[in-house]
Amino acid sequence: MGRTPMLPFKLVYSDAYYLPIGQHVFPAEKYKRVHDRLLANGVAEASDFLEPEPATDQDILLVHKPEYVHKLKTGTLSPREEMELEVPFSPELVRAFWLAAGGSILAARQALADRASISIGGGFHHAFADHGEGFCMIHDVAVAIRRLQRDDKIRTAMTVDCDVHQGNGTAAIFAGTRTASALLPSAGASTLDSAVLNSALPGKIRGAHAGDVFTISLHQHNNYPQWKPASSIDVDLPDGTGDDDYLAWLDNALSSGLRQFEPDLLCYIAGADPYREDQLGGLSLTIEGLKKRDELVFKVARARDIPVMVTFAGGYARNVEVTVSIHCNTVVAAKEVFG
Ligand SMILES: [Zn+2]
Repeated sequence: MGRTPMLPFKLVYSDAYYLPIGQHVFPAEKYKRVHDRLLANGVAEASDFLEPEPATDQDILLVHKPEYVHKLKTGTLSPREEMELEVPFSPELVRAFWLAAGGSILAARQALADRASISIGGGFHHAFADHGEGFCMIHDVAVAIRRLQRDDKIRTAMTVDCDVHQGNGTAAIFAGTRTASALLPSAGASTLDSAVLNSALPGKIRGAHAGDVFTISLHQHNNYPQWKPASSIDVDLPDGTGDDDYLAWLDNALSSGLRQFEPDLLCYIAGADPYREDQLGGLSLTIEGLKKRDELVFKVARARDIPVMVTFAGGYARNVEVTVSIHCNTVVAAKEVFG
């Protein structure tokens, strides 16, 4: 009979992570449900959670254009800009996104202290410097990276985006920091040494070198966003990609990325929407496959002693409890790898 041992890392969470967007395909209640289930299942206890502060406007401005931030603060987005956001604008929503960014800053700091940290929120990878889209107003992960760089806590970072949708905002925001644009050879080329790439996997890997932030995105090719600005490495997966192929591609992208680049921080965007029955996704991962995905990222980070901060991004299973299970498993996987 003992108390649940404390997690070897902190979870960052606030009830105010809730996005006030009404009835929406994005299940804004998932954050609280993950929090509650982690406690109910004994995966975590109350003292494992840290409550974030909202990011400051200065933090937000490290990534976003002053004109855009001004429009958000004054509620003066154009109808077209609001439509692109695909969530109803409100001052409360602005506050929730500032808090998500603060949560990612805190998780990134905690990751440097404890090797890992998970924000039970965030991962708004479709936000650009000058506009929001695809349910994403503010790029919380980019804000966290820029804040830690500004504080001289890190010099470089790598984003590993496993949401089913390409990380277009991430790619665009960090493209400006690129020093070169040499293309990685496509699948089967000699710089990618795994036999997997020489087999008949139908996906495609492409990429460009990074500046101080190296961006990796594994996503369904035939899905939003229509325009996919180049990440450092993009893995364009065909419809219906299942666990084994997905894990092989992820393994390859990680080893290829880490051969080219040494990050001081790894930002893992652990979308739940590669799940086989996701309403907005067309890949075929199982719940177990998604947990193996999380384990793979954590094991690679741990083996190379790279601190890893995690955000949740999307997840649109018809039954929200499935999305909650996938997100809870990310915490369990981290507990197993870092425990
Ligand atoms: Zn997504």
